[in-house]
Amino acid sequence: MSGNWAKAFSRGSGGKGRKAGTVVRNIEVAFQVKLREYTTIWIGGAADRLVFPRSAAQVREVVVTEGRSGRPVQVLGAGSNLLVSDSGVSATVLCTKKHLSKAVFLSDGSVVAEAGVMLPRLAVLCALSGLSGMEPLSGIPGTVGGALSMNAGSYGQTIGELAEWVEVVDAEGEIHRVEARAIRFGYRETKFPVQGIVVRAGFRFEPGTRETVFERMRQINEKRRASQPWGERTFGSAFRNPPGEVGSARELLERAGMKGEREGDACFSPKHANFLVNRGRATAADVRRLLSRGQSAVRVSCGVLLLPEVKMWGNFDV
Ligand SMILES: Cc1cc2nc3c(=O)[nH]c(=O)nc-3n(C[C@H](O)[C@H](O)[C@H](O)COP(=O)(O)OP(=O)(O)OC[C@H]3O[C@@H](n4cnc5c(N)ncnc54)[C@H](O)[C@@H]3O)c2cc1C
Repeated sequence: MSGNWAKAFSRGSGGKGRKAGTVVRNIEVAFQVKLREYTTIWIGGAADRLVFPRSAAQVREVVVTEGRSGRPVQVLGAGSNLLVSDSGVSATVLCTKKHLSKAVFLSDGSVVAEAGVMLPRLAVLCALSGLSGMEPLSGIPGTVGGALSMNAGSYGQTIGELAEWVEVVDAEGEIHRVEARAIRFGYRETKFPVQGIVVRAGFRFEPGTRETVFERMRQINEKRRASQPWGERTFGSAFRNPPGEVGSARELLERAGMKGEREGDACFSPKHANFLVNRGRATAADVRRLLSRGQSAVRVSCGVLLLPEVKMWGNFDV
């Protein structure tokens, strides 16, 4: 492990020596970067350090170096399911989307995708290769790594059902290839036998034709555009759907009169009550207030406790 890397890191984290961005041993690093620019809802304060690895080896290097320095590492994909607090996060944030974005299509119909590959791009590449399976996920604006860690899904398809194996870098920097059958893919959650950062995954898709795959994708995304806010700043579903027959989070919020309700510029979308949107300058505190109001309203009117689907980073106590 390079001493330069660790030195440059600590130099950058301190007040006067702070740099806007640099490259250490080929790894791109930026300091005190506002995370709002890396989230789809466009909210959140700065991270101490933001690193952009180009390979699994660079992910290992970051994990090991930061581990030795006692600095926590948090993984960021496309920030499409994330609320970062207004005061930011005191951590090294490892962003996969920028450089870990290669997808390789093999002749046997299987595909190997790095963690930062965006799902809509993977879906289009599959369609171009006449491979079917990704169409229902083609409108989810997340990365392969983020989707696998959440078991993202829509229109009857989850990403876990398409994966054959996943490679994970653990806290010691070891890379493990885990077969999909050893992973517990649940509703918007995944339990890997090894905790860590997803760096790569293998998928198998069904053969199809370009035309039929593109057409299916078009139909699915038309449905999505008709029922969800499109092109707005949002992190998608605010709450998980509760178990049982009590209704979806969207229905419960509507019943509780929360559709269109606001706190500052944060708003439960008038088009889809469970989509929380930023209508301008919403803060993380606004969003938290609105989430709490939604939760209370549903508990009082329907007797159901909604749990957030969105991941929250940083301190929300103040
Ligand atoms: C308009 C819109 C529509 C959406 N529709 C859907 C939908 O239909 N279905 C659905 O399931 N979701 C949907 N989402 C939510 C979101 O896109 C998914 O949850 C997506 O999988 C998150 O991926 P991401 O790369 O953005 O992860 P991020 O938001 O960056 O991170 C989410 C979590 O995953 C972790 N993570 C990210 N990358 C890795 C990695 N490489 N290794 C380990 N952990 C990692 C993060 O640490 C964090 O805890 C929608 C969001 C938006 C904005």
